[in-house]
Amino acid sequence: MEKNIQYSVVVPVYNEELVIHESYQRLKTVMDSTGEAYELLFVNDGSMDRTAELIKGYCQTDPHVRLIDFSRNFGHQIAITAGMDYAKGEAVVVIDADLQDPPELILDMIEKWKEGYEVVYAVRTQRKGETAFKKYTASLFYRVLRQITEVDIPIDTGDFRLMDRKVCHEMKKIREKNPFVRGLVSWVGFKQIAVEYVRDERLAGETKYPLKKMLKLSMDGITSFSYKPLKLASVAGIVLSAIGFISMFLVLYLKLFTNSTITGWSSLIVIQLFFSGIILFMLGMIGEYIGRIYDEAKDRPLYIVRESYGLQAKPHPVQSPVHFKQYKQH
Ligand code: UDP
Ligand code: MG
Repeated sequence: MEKNIQYSVVVPVYNEELVIHESYQRLKTVMDSTGEAYELLFVNDGSMDRTAELIKGYCQTDPHVRLIDFSRNFGHQIAITAGMDYAKGEAVVVIDADLQDPPELILDMIEKWKEGYEVVYAVRTQRKGETAFKKYTASLFYRVLRQITEVDIPIDTGDFRLMDRKVCHEMKKIREKNPFVRGLVSWVGFKQIAVEYVRDERLAGETKYPLKKMLKLSMDGITSFSYKPLKLASVAGIVLSAIGFISMFLVLYLKLFTNSTITGWSSLIVIQLFFSGIILFMLGMIGEYIGRIYDEAKDRPLYIVRESYGLQAKPHPVQSPVHFKQYKQH
């Protein structure tokens, strides 16, 4: 029988042919140094370059390497979810492929895990080689999210973390269609601790998170952890009708007791545009939630695996229990 695997390292990859070799080498060196059984579980998220081919090559020479090959690009968060579904280790580490997350930090995470912590997450104290725009918006996003949600989601923390098997087991029960994994790990609880690190520059290639994907991720984070944006409409409604009510008296006063009336096409148009803007924005917000409800209702599978390499068994996603009605036979 296969030796029990102690560590699984889940690496989502999307068009990473320029970095994958270096990444594999550094992960291998770090994991070999633990002296314990481990697996490197690459999830190929529909790469269009040679990433999958290169990993298949490693699978042939290195028994630690496994590959899950998606039928298309399903997104980073889904790739992580698949990795957790298939991982067999007692501790599961999620790390980016571009070496922005230093693999050597895994050893510190393991140390904390051995002290009894069930989640060890990596907090970025500094981000190198990223645009000022990305740094600023990311930093703002984590702080806003923290303000509007009840769940204690740590700031400046990505998906680079170690999870105990127990945590991974609970994570596998969550089958959300638009998951915000870093928030869900906080949501499941357990004994969590941070380790700090400086986020390096991407080794090579370009970011696989263009603005569109970043916006999608942040909307997933907000909508899956807070209803506050929906409540904004009622707050705005109350404030604006209060202003409207007071203005009504002002207008009546001017009309009845003075000779002046408020004139102007411009002011009307400005007010009209302002309020239409607010209304459309709120409709859009509601749409974000409805779209996600629709995704849940359709209940399509989270991902489709074309092939897998190096994996001996199918995954065991823990599905929510289905209760069948039992009928008595007469
Ligand atoms: N990634 C993925 N699917 C995607 C986008 C990204 O699997 O649709 C992977 C990517 O290969 C990398 C990780 O997710 O290993 C983080 O992406 P990236 O480094 O480009 O994001 P950034 O660090 O720029 O935010
Ligand atoms: Mg990166």
